Amino acid sequence: MKTPIKDYLSEIVESVRPDESGEVADYIPTLAEANPDRLALAMTTVSGRTYTAGDTDTEFTIQSMSKPFAYAAAITEHGKDKIDSIVGTEPSGEAFNELSLEQGTHRPKNPMINVGALAINQFVCQPGANWKTRTKHMVGLLSTLAGRKLRVDYDAYESEMDSAHRNMSIAHMLAAYGFIETTPHDAVRGYTAQCSVLVNTRDVAMMTAVLANGGVNPVTNQTVLGRSVVRRVLSVMAIAGMYDEAGEWFTEVGIPAKSGVAGGLLGALPGQAGLAAFSPRLNDHGNSVRSIAIFRKLSEDLGLHLMDADAIGSRALRGTRVSNGRSIIEIQGPVNFTAAEIVLNRLATSTPSESEVVFDVSRVGVVNPVGRTLILEAMRRLSHEGKEILFYDPEGVLPNPDMGEGLLPVILQDAP
Ligand code: GLU
Repeated sequence: MKTPIKDYLSEIVESVRPDESGEVADYIPTLAEANPDRLALAMTTVSGRTYTAGDTDTEFTIQSMSKPFAYAAAITEHGKDKIDSIVGTEPSGEAFNELSLEQGTHRPKNPMINVGALAINQFVCQPGANWKTRTKHMVGLLSTLAGRKLRVDYDAYESEMDSAHRNMSIAHMLAAYGFIETTPHDAVRGYTAQCSVLVNTRDVAMMTAVLANGGVNPVTNQTVLGRSVVRRVLSVMAIAGMYDEAGEWFTEVGIPAKSGVAGGLLGALPGQAGLAAFSPRLNDHGNSVRSIAIFRKLSEDLGLHLMDADAIGSRALRGTRVSNGRSIIEIQGPVNFTAAEIVLNRLATSTPSESEVVFDVSRVGVVNPVGRTLILEAMRRLSHEGKEILFYDPEGVLPNPDMGEGLLPVILQDAP
């Protein structure tokens, strides 16, 4: 059986492709030259599997999607209390490049807007380190998160530095309040290099999956970031990751996210998956039009809104066994998207060789709509491959198991 998840991601990508609204960022000359039609989507689950659709190998600069990771680096290096004294955790409701500080404390309001990120970049490694050392540290961290060696695009860097007047004025404002350890020029260089790291959508999904997985790389099982650091980063992303669109974003999509002006958008679903989309045309808030559309659809279709509190179905596959010449798939616990994905992956990677396949859901407590759709789809696909599908559901947790096209499984009355 072929897993339907990749097909689904491709469908989403194609559904947003016709939308050509928005403009590519033109305040950085290299961004103005980007191919506006590029479009990609990638998902890495906390089980370490990656699904992709579209131009997922196209590279682009990470831009502001680096901000959550720089914030994580700074807290790791200096501790939460020190970093809290430098940058707040309040939503700003402002544009990304606003010259603003919190009243009273004079701190930047949060680390997701430029003023906060410029201050944070000063602290990503040892105090007083120059921009080259800080950049090396950030490239190292981003590479570990992505699982491959990344590099700075120095053409993009130079191109942004040539017109970085606004960020320079922000850095001077920060220096006036004592938040710059080096010099304003060095501060902008380090921050701009951090924004100029080249990534592809697949990298970003993997980096984000580490956040979704509490700081542990789901493929290598290496702990890259501390759990409490990750929780803080995700919380700030939830309230401030989308600039002056952050409130509407969280209400509608409900996924902690961060966008970048090159058109990237990352979203972390704690305990489930890291998601990344890429499309260069931006809306008036500086967020990618088609990436937002992709996330809206994903959230809606897969029930990913964080405020939809489904229990996580990470142990959904109790086991598979063969009995009386039949293959038995035993599913347990709550069946949501994550749970169904585990079952689908098992069926896709080792399709039963027996001609009769029994889906035993007698130990399932609850099935959410996406879980239901995906389990029925697995049954439908196996049936199309010539398998006889049998179904054991004594509690009726999955009533009317219509696989589509009027196809019904054989209902078992006794335990298989
Ligand atoms: N390098 C960009 C800037 O500071 C990043 C902005 C963004 O991606 O939102 O202007």
